[in-house]
Amino acid sequence: MRRTRVDALVVGSGPAGSTAALVLARGGARVALVDKATFPRDKACGDMVGPRALQLLDDLGLPRPEGPHVGDMLVVGPNGRRVRLPSADGLTYPGHGTAVTRTEFDDTLRHEALEAGALPVQGRAAEPLEVDGRIDGYRLSTGEEWRADFVIGADGATSGVAATAGLVEADRVLWGFAVRTYLPREVVDLAAIVMWEPSPWQAFPGYGWVFPAEGGANVGLGIATRGDRQAGARAVRALPEFLDHLHAVGLVAEAPKAELPPRLGGWLKMGMVGTTPARDRVLLIGDAAGLINPLQGEGIAQAMGSGRLAAESLLAGPGQVAERYGAALAAAHLPYQQITAVAQGALVGRPRAIAALSRLLIAAGASDSFAGGWAVFWNELLVGAPPGRHRSVAAALTRMGRTMTARTATARWLDAALGQSKAPPPF
Ligand SMILES: Cc1cc2nc3c(=O)[nH]c(=O)nc-3n(C[C@H](O)[C@H](O)[C@H](O)COP(=O)(O)OP(=O)(O)OC[C@H]3O[C@@H](n4cnc5c(N)ncnc54)[C@H](O)[C@@H]3O)c2cc1C
Repeated sequence: MRRTRVDALVVGSGPAGSTAALVLARGGARVALVDKATFPRDKACGDMVGPRALQLLDDLGLPRPEGPHVGDMLVVGPNGRRVRLPSADGLTYPGHGTAVTRTEFDDTLRHEALEAGALPVQGRAAEPLEVDGRIDGYRLSTGEEWRADFVIGADGATSGVAATAGLVEADRVLWGFAVRTYLPREVVDLAAIVMWEPSPWQAFPGYGWVFPAEGGANVGLGIATRGDRQAGARAVRALPEFLDHLHAVGLVAEAPKAELPPRLGGWLKMGMVGTTPARDRVLLIGDAAGLINPLQGEGIAQAMGSGRLAAESLLAGPGQVAERYGAALAAAHLPYQQITAVAQGALVGRPRAIAALSRLLIAAGASDSFAGGWAVFWNELLVGAPPGRHRSVAAALTRMGRTMTARTATARWLDAALGQSKAPPPF
């Protein structure tokens, strides 16, 4: 049986794990990149690689993916009323995202990590190996044993590494579940986020989307469930009715058929709350750390960014790695995640409040300043936003949000788990 020791064992080679492995390997660390899947593999996703993810690729000297560019977006209210959210080049990111399948995107990134020197390992991290009660590596489903100075959990929202290391407080986590399908004959001019009320004033606790895809549309529906993971199945059940709604409001041309195209679902862990990102020699990155944006479901950029931060924290030296990583993560995301985690937690389970808020937002979006500020705020693009009215509105929303959420239990939990961000506020 093979037994190997490395500097870092990265469990999961999605965007988070591959980025971490790439940076570690380039930095001279001996790193193993494990995944239970055989690549290329698919992953349920809207396939939207956002502006900050594209910038990270640039920063790492990697090519950007090819695919339809997505700049401005529509937000469509329950009654079909639309707001156009403008996009703009930031000072530190491009003014668009790119639609690309996860089969292609994740495989390319993993390939780059292997090119940089990461060791490819196929197998499920099945059984933690412990020394003095601390995780020292994993026995894989193949029987191989991989031990390491640091274990990096990049194994997605339902991370086994996070659970084994005791880093998740399940009843505090903001869970979501989303299901996506492809409609091959659709042409999407403008990507759309869709708020939906299956019956009047009873808003669906989540949203749907229609995004461009190579040769068609990527369409999906996501639900926020807080701690109730049984409720995730509602997104799957509701998808046919939601597709009818998309047709009724003119967002897809073809009436949906009784037989749905193949669809794939996945869990989202949002808003950082409930997951301590690092302790001792275990670091969590990407969805494993619960970094998905609670307002619009983006997670690829956060996955890649946290992968880089974890790798840099480790390369900086052997002591205080978990503390360094926690502080870096807090500086990057806490100002935004605190506000939006509290907002999501307060709204789930209150369909009338969501219905009222969505009407208010759609009405306010008639103002260009508000629509632009909204686009900057909810895409977590304030840091690096170009000066102007849109930035000012997003900064005002952030200031207001910080004040309103500062004394909540969620804010206190985040402070305790990550420590107060030492970075100056992003406005
Ligand atoms: C339906 C849906 C739509 C989404 N749309 C978007 C979008 O349009 N844009 C966006 O930015 N984000 C989107 N997200 C979020 C995005 O998919 C995630 O944030 C992103 O995939 C996180 O990357 P990751 O590397 O942390 O985890 P993952 O991409 O989930 O990768 C985890 C990897 O770990 C492996 N793994 C798991 N357990 C083990 C184990 N025990 N042993 C070995 N390997 C293991 C898995 O095989 C997998 O390859 C969406 C999510 C869903 C569910």
